[in-house]
Amino acid sequence: MASALSDRLSKLVKSMRGQARITETNVQDMMREVRMALLEADVALPVVRDFINRVKEKALGQEVVGSLNPGQVLVGIVHKELAATMGEGVADINLAVQPPAVILMAGLQGAGKTTTTAKLAKHLIERRKKKVLTVSADVYRPAAIEQLKTVTKQAGADWFPSRPEDKPRDIALAALDHARRHLFDVLLVDTAGRLAIDEALMAEIRELHAALNPIETLFVVDAMQGQDAVNTAKAFKDALPLTGVVLTKLDGDSRGGAALSVRQITGAPIKFAGVSEKIDGLEVFDADRHAGRVLG
Ligand code: GDP
Repeated sequence: MASALSDRLSKLVKSMRGQARITETNVQDMMREVRMALLEADVALPVVRDFINRVKEKALGQEVVGSLNPGQVLVGIVHKELAATMGEGVADINLAVQPPAVILMAGLQGAGKTTTTAKLAKHLIERRKKKVLTVSADVYRPAAIEQLKTVTKQAGADWFPSRPEDKPRDIALAALDHARRHLFDVLLVDTAGRLAIDEALMAEIRELHAALNPIETLFVVDAMQGQDAVNTAKAFKDALPLTGVVLTKLDGDSRGGAALSVRQITGAPIKFAGVSEKIDGLEVFDADRHAGRVLG
């Protein structure tokens, strides 16, 4: 954990050395620095405020034991709360259902849904030994259907063809029927996205959700959106019962503040992180490690 400490926090920790207890001033000083660190990491302001309040509550009255100094204790509380907010432990894909388990992918266009669908297919094949089928319900962009076909092949999964003239719901149900008849364990449904949230898109994905009854509804969001991810997350959370989040393009985002905002807004665990464009660029999200990164 010490390696995760920024210079600014280290300085504060040192200045509190020798004190036997945490004072209100200590908490205030520390919270000022944490607030700055979170804002620099592009965490949304209301999320920062909430977080600081929770930490303050925990920190005041906390006893300092043994050889630790108040600064170290405070940093420990901050780190722990940060990791807890982003989700403790690891949360893999839930497949506890009569197969085929349906996984619905939701998110804006460009968030990385299609890429992530293939990455997940590979993950489920290699790590969970599952037979995986993918289908695209994006009837607006034939190129997206072709893209899914290509990356599905790379993943070693099967791909169900969709005709752009069909309705998304009919395509998805045909794929589900195919998955049942051919004993697939998992059906991954890639969906259409828009560059901005719009009602038609939300109505369509809600209809897909109702028809498919997926065990997982994953919100795919670009980490580089920073605090702008908040509005997208809100819209998708209001439209769908999200069961998890995939944070993509973490490799291009040095501070990772979106994780905290998205987790807090959706209440859904961040299950995976996209860390490259490549098919194997998917990691199980590690909240503890990410907490260090956000603190900077
Ligand atoms: P979709 O419109 O939501 O289906 O998004 P795509 O899957 O087509 O991805 C949009 C772009 O983001 C593509 O150029 C992907 O290669 C890229 N991309 C997706 N995930 C990641 C990631 O984790 N890291 C990086 N660096 N690029 C990614």
